[in-house]
Amino acid sequence: MSQPIHIIGGGLAGSEAAWQAACAGVPVIVHEMRPVRMTEAHKTAGLAELVCSNSFRSDDAHTNAVGLLHEEMRRAGSLILSVGDANKLPAGGALAVDRDGFSATITRHLEAHPLITVLRAEVTGLPPLDWTNVIVATGPLTSPALATAIQQLTGETELAFFDAIAPIVHLHSIDQTVTWRQSRYDKAGPGGTGADYINCPMTRAQYETFVDTLLAAEKTSFKDWEASTPYFDGCLPIEVMAQRGRETLRYGPMKPVGLSNPHRPGERPYAVVQLRQDNILGTLWNMVGFQTKLKHGEQTRVFRAIPGLERAEFARLGGLHRNTFLNSPKLLDAQLRLRAEPRLRFAGQITGCEGYVESAAIGLLAGCAAAARPRGEQWLPPPPTTAFGALLAHITGGHISAAAEEARHSFQPMNVNFGLFPPLEAPSHDASGRRVKGKERGLARKRALCARALADLDRWLAAPATCAAAQ
Ligand SMILES: Cc1cc2nc3c(=O)[nH]c(=O)nc-3n(C[C@H](O)[C@H](O)[C@H](O)COP(=O)(O)OP(=O)(O)OC[C@H]3O[C@@H](n4cnc5c(N)ncnc54)[C@H](O)[C@@H]3O)c2cc1C
Repeated sequence: MSQPIHIIGGGLAGSEAAWQAACAGVPVIVHEMRPVRMTEAHKTAGLAELVCSNSFRSDDAHTNAVGLLHEEMRRAGSLILSVGDANKLPAGGALAVDRDGFSATITRHLEAHPLITVLRAEVTGLPPLDWTNVIVATGPLTSPALATAIQQLTGETELAFFDAIAPIVHLHSIDQTVTWRQSRYDKAGPGGTGADYINCPMTRAQYETFVDTLLAAEKTSFKDWEASTPYFDGCLPIEVMAQRGRETLRYGPMKPVGLSNPHRPGERPYAVVQLRQDNILGTLWNMVGFQTKLKHGEQTRVFRAIPGLERAEFARLGGLHRNTFLNSPKLLDAQLRLRAEPRLRFAGQITGCEGYVESAAIGLLAGCAAAARPRGEQWLPPPPTTAFGALLAHITGGHISAAAEEARHSFQPMNVNFGLFPPLEAPSHDASGRRVKGKERGLARKRALCARALADLDRWLAAPATCAAAQ
């Protein structure tokens, strides 16, 4: 019998990781602190408790990135997906589950597995040295004692306790006849070209209207236990900056200096919204300094009033939440191991993915990778063209960190979305030779991305050292 894999945290990621490793024949010990110690959001002692919504979002595997991830997880033998399917509730095109039945079934499966032991205790510091194969899956509400120990290991600035997320826009939806590419004062900076930002210009009248709309828009409030976690001044929500004075934004993230609009030579923009490249592929661009607590519907309305973003498609909307997550692109290798201490692997939301399904997906990969070592195998990561691979690439290096001084804030958690996938040209004609136009073209592109992903996934799963539960 090989040394056990120690998994800290029996949430979405930890439960899936435990199942995968046990299916590969490796013994597992899950350390879950509930009910001995609760988090601020969990209410039960159940493993894989859903802390808020009961939805796994869209189940459409042909035109939706999270639906595609569902299908990939099913093919990979995911416990979370199979139990989700078995506890499904009517929810249109979404996969919604009976939360109690779901968590109870996961708990039963794990506790009944002969290779899995579930211990109910908090891990309060770095795992002892004789735990040689560890997965840390303690989630967005990692207990303070363990978070402090991780922070001491990684460095103070590499573990965040809050995410401050600015909206991210798909490049293809930005109007290039209004915007232009230029860095402030054409500065190239490290690794830049001098044309590294997309700029959206505003006249004085447009700026005044924008500030009025922003101030009047509906915001979400902090939960009591979130409000007591301070957020740094550099990450103030955009609407809080606007409340401090009508000109604050023009002297902050929307300052117009060092930029000249080639579409209107000789006319100085009154304010400028800048977008910065957010992934290596160049398909996603984040709105610089636009972290916000506006309600999601309001964000779409308010930000589409910005010139050039009238038809913006958002890969993710902004937010500010209590969330514990690592600066993973810097700290983790392609197998989710801490570069500085490879016996420690991370999984779930603490790695910087976002959402139940994404956390479970990263748990699945971590469980398979951790099980490969005692089996004497070299684990093969999934291709970047799959939803698994695209998400893994975001966490372990697909994200671009901007200028060095901004590195602290540049990596932010993300749901799976098509902007993370290597691009694919939409087919210009359908099977009958008819030209594909407009919205149909976008759908055709998504269908092609999904088809490519599933074909590549099947090839990956057929290889020997990937995922035992699928075989
Ligand atoms: C308030 C809130 C609401 C959310 N709502 C949604 C939503 O509606 N939809 C969605 O898709 N995502 C949501 N998320 C985001 C996220 O997807 C979920 O939190 C998801 O559960 C993350 O999975 P995980 O396995 O990484 O962490 P978790 O599921 O939180 O699991 C981590 C586990 O680790 C345990 N633990 C923590 N510290 C220790 C320790 N030191 N020792 C032992 N055990 C420990 C915890 O008790 C917990 O069981 C929400 C997050 C929060 C905080």
